[in-house]
Amino acid sequence: MLALLSGFAMLGVQLWIARRSRLRYLDLGVWTWGSWLLLFGFCLLASRIFLPLWFSAVGGNGLIAVGIVMYCEGIHRHVTGRGLPRWWLWGAPAVACLLIAWMLAWPLYLRTIGISLLFATLLLPGIGVLLGPGWRAEYSLRSVALTLILATGSLLLRAVHAARHPEDYQHLLQSSLGQGLTFLFSFICLIGAGFGFVLANFERVARRMEDMASTDALTGCLNRATADALLRHELERGRRENTPVGFVLLDLDHFKVVNDTHGHSAGDTALQCFVAEVRRRLRASDVMGRWGGEEFVLVLPSTDQAGASRLVEQIREGVQALQIRHACGEVFRITVSAGVVIAQPHEHLSAEQLFTLVDQALYQAKGAGRNRVHVQDSAAPAPASSTGAHPGRPPFAPDASA
Ligand code: GH3
Ligand code: MG
Ligand code: MG
Repeated sequence: MLALLSGFAMLGVQLWIARRSRLRYLDLGVWTWGSWLLLFGFCLLASRIFLPLWFSAVGGNGLIAVGIVMYCEGIHRHVTGRGLPRWWLWGAPAVACLLIAWMLAWPLYLRTIGISLLFATLLLPGIGVLLGPGWRAEYSLRSVALTLILATGSLLLRAVHAARHPEDYQHLLQSSLGQGLTFLFSFICLIGAGFGFVLANFERVARRMEDMASTDALTGCLNRATADALLRHELERGRRENTPVGFVLLDLDHFKVVNDTHGHSAGDTALQCFVAEVRRRLRASDVMGRWGGEEFVLVLPSTDQAGASRLVEQIREGVQALQIRHACGEVFRITVSAGVVIAQPHEHLSAEQLFTLVDQALYQAKGAGRNRVHVQDSAAPAPASSTGAHPGRPPFAPDASA
């Protein structure tokens, strides 16, 4: 009992202190409350020699039951973003307290069986969600699942032990190896699960920070630095594996006019719709990055000129057909121009050379009237061909950023 009291006290204090620092943003509030409830529950059980039996047994076991439900609530919130169903959150502790009060009249060994089975049942919703969606979330949650399974197993073992050795459960202060160990192990596992849950929270924060450092917040695309690093990586791999790499620069046409006509937030919506439309057509191995403003790059591993031209032409047509609906209900359209270059493995083009070429290709597409795809031959960088038609466009002024 002393080991459990000090364990839950340490866990509760550490979570409480952590929540007063920057870590207050972590999902630890409910778990902290759960730890305090378990601590007070064990305190009440430990004071049974001073307190009336009904008070320490119902109060202590009742608080432990509520603490277990709080742990499961914390796990559900963390994994699914929602808590336990309301009827379970309020109903399970209430029914548990009533059952514990009812069991007071039973002999101690039967009460031990009943309460152990009750606690094991209360752990099931937490284990269920950890083995389902939780298994595919943070790795540390797997250790939480395993420790909760061990706790449940140990509670079941305790019930079996009490059924087979009722003589070990005659008096409250009586102890035997079997009953002592199953009691200690069941709840030590809960303390272990607490540390695993804290680690899962840290894992989530670390992943969010990684995502924020590598992606663009508005569109969810990779940011420029990450796309650039992946381009270099794919060029290297293309050389090693002797495969061509397609590189595409996409630039929305007259996007300034879109903003000026429909407003900046409509422009943001257009960027999001555009990215969704392009992504729909990419393979899992293709990379899409936001190069800046309304300019995006595609890195297409193992893609030759015919494949890249076909894909980008489909993208151009898809974007042209998009009907973008702004929040106020207004519908408008956008078009995109694209430059395409293929890095052949034997050419040993650097990322910088590739970008110069693709920039020239985009310049050609813009100059030829926009809403076009221009494929630049990396060996002979001269104007090649263009598709699509968009008459009446003003002459192209190259962007400072491109
Ligand atoms: P062009 O056809 O020559 O590319 O013309 P353009 O108007 O698209 O090019 P320009 O470079 O003159 O304008 C780019 C515009 O894109 C200006 C800028 O306000 C807008 N823009 C850049 N980033 C964002 C963004 O995140 N949201 C919105 N709404 N607009 C953006
Ligand atoms: Mg533009
Ligand atoms: Mg631009």
